[in-house]
Amino acid sequence: MKSLNRHLIRVLPIVAAAALLGPSVEVQAGLIIHATFVGGDAPSDMAGGGDLIDIFDAAASFWEAAFTDPKDHWVVNIQYQWGPVNGNGQFRTTGQGGDPHRIESGTITFDNSGRTPFFADPTPRDNSEYTQYTQGHFDTPEGPLIISRVYSGATGDAAGRVDLLSIAEHELGHALGLSLDNTGASSPIIVTAPLPFAGVMIPSVGTDHLDIVGALMGLIQLPGDRYLISPVDVLAEAQISQFGDPNLNPYSVPEPDSLALLSIGLVALAAWRVFRYGRSRPVAWVSSMFNSPWGAS
Ligand SMILES: [Zn+2]
Repeated sequence: MKSLNRHLIRVLPIVAAAALLGPSVEVQAGLIIHATFVGGDAPSDMAGGGDLIDIFDAAASFWEAAFTDPKDHWVVNIQYQWGPVNGNGQFRTTGQGGDPHRIESGTITFDNSGRTPFFADPTPRDNSEYTQYTQGHFDTPEGPLIISRVYSGATGDAAGRVDLLSIAEHELGHALGLSLDNTGASSPIIVTAPLPFAGVMIPSVGTDHLDIVGALMGLIQLPGDRYLISPVDVLAEAQISQFGDPNLNPYSVPEPDSLALLSIGLVALAAWRVFRYGRSRPVAWVSSMFNSPWGAS
């Protein structure tokens, strides 16, 4: 293979130069989730007609859109599969480290034991199966911090079923920092500059979940509901994984324009907020529930 080696030696510098100069070469910027499906069979009672690979790709792209700062390269390698687990899904860290300290790799398993009645959305990049939208926020000195974005009023196959997209986004959220065995995580989460909302404490349960009802990274995901990535989820991951300039609104369609319109008609609910100077007090947070303008289909 001598001649092949010589050929490679001659060609490689040219390829390298082309890679540096070529207009089609992508420059890595922000979060890159390298996801590989490694097998297993979907549960036989899964409904909706969608596919885990499409849904996982959508979930990864929503998270990537939250961390796009070209000055920060953040790579996470994920293997995901179907398998029997307790609960809807499970994340396991397989690698962490670096500076800043981050989870570098992990495995996600989606339950195929038959205990989880999944809805596999055939159109995971829209929320057309849901008819109602609920949003909550903490009132902070820097203005409202949105802590929950939940679709309900599920129709068709989505009704009464666990949304596979929400579970994929939740389990990926563990890979971005909120993980029990992440040695760089702490609880509670105190937001520090240069992040927005510096000084706000984000209530958490252990180092892997937020103690916030309706947050994607909260403990509970109800069948029939879809949980979007909220600004508080992005902020918590950014704090733990030291990403300085996150995009708190990673969805381009239909958010964020529609959400600005939808923050009318608020219903008070009880929750907690804790702010800088160590004070803690119960307050009201607000939520809105109404018919989604883009409706069901
Ligand atoms: Zn979890």
